[in-house]
Order: sequence, then C-alpha cells, then structure tokens
Amino acid sequence: MTDDNKPVQARNFVGGAWTTPSAEGRPVENPATGEEFGEVRFSTESDVDDAVSAAAEAFESWRRTPIEDRLQPLFRYKQLLEEHQDELARELVREHGKALSEARGEIRRGIENVEVACGAPTMMQAGHLQHAAPDIDETAVRKPLGVFAAITPFNFPAMIPLWFLPYAVATGNTFVLKPSERNPFTPTKLVELAHEAGFPEGVVSLVHGDKTAVDALCSHPDVAGISFVGSTPIARHVYETAASHGKRVQAQGGAKNHVVVTANADLDTAVEGTVGSAFANTGQRCLANPVAVVEDGIYDEFAERLVERAGEVVVGDGLDEETEMGPLTTGAHRESIIDAIDAATESGATLLLDGREAEVPDGGHFLGPTVFGDVSPDSTLARDELFGPVLALVRVADFDEALSVVNASEFGNAASLFTTSGGEAQRFRHEADAGNLGVNVGTAAPMAFFHFGGAKASFFGDLHAQGDDAIRFYTDETVYIERWPDA
Ligand code: NAD
Repeated sequence: MTDDNKPVQARNFVGGAWTTPSAEGRPVENPATGEEFGEVRFSTESDVDDAVSAAAEAFESWRRTPIEDRLQPLFRYKQLLEEHQDELARELVREHGKALSEARGEIRRGIENVEVACGAPTMMQAGHLQHAAPDIDETAVRKPLGVFAAITPFNFPAMIPLWFLPYAVATGNTFVLKPSERNPFTPTKLVELAHEAGFPEGVVSLVHGDKTAVDALCSHPDVAGISFVGSTPIARHVYETAASHGKRVQAQGGAKNHVVVTANADLDTAVEGTVGSAFANTGQRCLANPVAVVEDGIYDEFAERLVERAGEVVVGDGLDEETEMGPLTTGAHRESIIDAIDAATESGATLLLDGREAEVPDGGHFLGPTVFGDVSPDSTLARDELFGPVLALVRVADFDEALSVVNASEFGNAASLFTTSGGEAQRFRHEADAGNLGVNVGTAAPMAFFHFGGAKASFFGDLHAQGDDAIRFYTDETVYIERWPDA
C-alpha cells in the first residue's frame, strides 16, 4: 500500500519513461497472508506497440555502440543487483511467497547471467580463416537482430528475466520484458535498476499484461525474436504464433522430472536431495523432481526416511529466516493441488504424508509436503505436472525399469540419479532422455556459463537460454568471403 492507503501500481517502462498500462488488470497479493497490497494493469496492443517502437528506434544507435561501451551499464547493473539483493529478495518473497533463502539464491543465479553476458566481446567472435579457398580469407561475424522480447513465468520472477536481458543487450539488441502478472513488482525493480545502471532510453523496456500483450509481441512486425518460459501449452502457442510471424523463438515449457534412486545409493544424500528438489519453492520449480523412481531393494527404507525428513520441512511465511517452504503463490493454485491430492486418494493411491493435515499458519495459501507411495508410473500423479509440493514414489525392479519410467515421460526438462555405481551413472548419462541430468545432485540446474537444457515437451526451439546458446540466439552470423587481387 502507498501512504494514502492506495494499492501500489506496477508500471510499464517505455522509451525511458514510466507509463501506466491502459487496460484493467488484477490485484497482487502476499501469498503468505492473503493481503492485496498492489495492482497490475494490463497492456493493450497499442501499449505494446509503443514499447516495441521505442525499442526499435533505440536499436539503431545501440547496435552501433562499441561493445565495451555497451558493457559498462551491465557492469554497473551487476553491482546494483548485488547492492539491492536483500531488498529485491524481500520484495520477491512478498509477492511470490518463497523462502527468503530461495529468493536470495535465485537473484544470485540471475546475477551469474549478467556476469557471463559481460564476456560477450569474446563470445560474439565467430571465427576467421586465412586461405579458406584460393586467395580467399573468410570471417564469420555475429550481429544483433533488433528487438527481442522475453515472456516470463511466476515461479522465478527475478532469475528468469535475467536469463535473457543481459545477453540480448550485450549483443547489441534492444529488449522488452513481459513478466508474469502474478508477481510484477520484482521484474519492475529489475528494470528500475537497469535504468539506474545507465542503459540508454529504449534499450530495456517493460510491459505488464496477459495474453493480449503476449500475442501482440508474438505478432509485432518489429520484434525479431521471442524468449518464452512457462507452461507447455502456452510455450507451444508462443512458439507457433511467433514462428508463423517469422520470428526466432526459444520456448521453455513445463516439466515432470524424476529422481532415480538405485539400490546402492547413499541414502543420506538421496533423501536430502530428493526432499530438497521436490519441496523447495513449494514444488514450483521447473527443475523440481516430483517423481522418485526407487529400486525395490532400497524402496522401503528410502520411503520411511524420506517421509520422516519431508515431515520436518518448516512451512511458513517466506520472510521468516527459519522457513524452508513458503505458501503456494495463489489460492487457486493451492485448490488445484488439493483437488489432485483428493483425486489420487480417491483412486486408491497410498498417501504416506498428507500435506492437507500439516500445521501451517492461517491466512495464506499454505500446504504441507505430501508424499504418495507405490504410485503407478502411468497414473496422473506420476505423469502430469502439478507444480506443487507433492512427491510420488514409484517402485521399480531394477535400473532398466527406472530408465524406462524416466524416458516414457512426455517431458524432458531434467532427471537426477542417486547411485554409487560409475557404470549406472554412465548409462544414465548415455540413455536418460532429458536436457539437464544430475548425478547425486537433487536439482540439476546448470551454471549460467552452460546452456539450460530442456527436451521433448519441455522445450520448443533449438538454441537454449544461458551461456553460448544465448549469444547465438540473439545474433545472426554473416560470413565475409574476401579476395584482394592486389595482394
Ligand atoms: P504460464 O504458462 O501460465 O505463464 C507464462 C507466461 O505466459 C506469463 O507471462 C503469462 O502472462 C503468459 N500467458 C499465460 N497464459 C497465456 C495465454 N493464454 N496466451 C499467451 N500468454 C499467456 O506459466 P506460469 O504458471 O507462470 O509458470 C509455471 C510454468 O512454467 C510451469 O509449467 C513450469 O514448469 C514452467 N517453467 C518452465 C521452466 C523451464 O525452464 N522449462 C522454467 C520455469 C517455469
């Protein structure tokens, strides 16, 4: 709330000025208390056009700005993000609900991308070859393309915009962010800090909104490309719409990831890794592992220890330093998870830990960790993305069966293996079908200098986010073929 008790408004940032989106929007609430403290209005097609036009105009001089000069605001941006990390983390928790430690961690992961993008002078060099043909030298150069837009989800409102912004602008493009409407204030703060860091007018813009703004970006003639992260149906829609309008697209979709625990695994590591991965961020991570596929020989002991540890997870307001798991981000999402738990229970699934019964604070969208045992790998519980604190244990006879459960998934974002066998680890690396593979690591999240994988229905496109892929996504290569007869 502001001093006069009006809800704070999330604003657009267009051509270097803060503006008010034209359409009605929705309230923004604190998921830990249910308090509505802000509002986000939505952008119309015309608001999006204003932002894209300003970005297109800024591109003409930004593309010609020497790369060293383009990087100076990025260096200042890193410093500002670090200086404001705690304030940003608290803002993030207030509108998302996650634990403060998770919020700090995601901001750190975002800053990592700013650091990597500062390597653009080296990463943009594409190659040169003397005597490529008789008397001919050839040089490949990477050039920016124009205006790029990123459309981002609610679950990492700081980190995911930073998967894109630093690389897009370091390579000489201009950038328009359309963040999730569920938590608009963290991305707004990111853009405020980018402005403070000194990017020229129009290089970084922000439009709040919903489907109208997304579709306007995906079809705008002056948008060169779209980076999207969100659920699979919307990723597919964005991929198809933007591609049909001639844009390059990278669209990261939903997930239903697995951990595999083999009979020889170190149980302490496997239990801790599985609990962390399934319940951190209240199960609202695209790299969460909501299915644990466990070999029969270790299943009972693993299940017992896992349920004990999951029952100890401290659920509460994310702003409390003790909290390990905050509320779900919206009441509607919480209801949908409870419906899924009810349906699974009614269909005979074995409930080992019931999050509906957990002791949680009043007022917010809290739900405790929930664990189902002996879940059929073909059931909804094991196959569909719930995006909440629900873990399904699947019992398998051996490693081959575990691999086949992992690979039967329609998704392919990540999978992790807990083992002490090098042979199993090697087979997992060779045969498991997912973009990010962890061994004795609960959450297989690559550092920013590696691209962030994703396969099958978890990714549409070819070049991924982060690292070298990001540089290639935001640039086009031209090859100069030169012959000088007077040489
Ligand atoms: P979402 O698909 O509902 O929303 C993502 C973005 O799309 C938001 O900006 C939203 O405004 C916009 N959008 C929503 N409905 C739309 C429509 N009908 N037409 C056009 N645009 C629309 O996703 P979410 O609920 O915000 O985020 C959770 C999802 O994101 C989960 O499925 C999760 O797995 C996925 N995710 C994937 C990754 C990854 O790297 N693969 C990372 C984070 C989250």
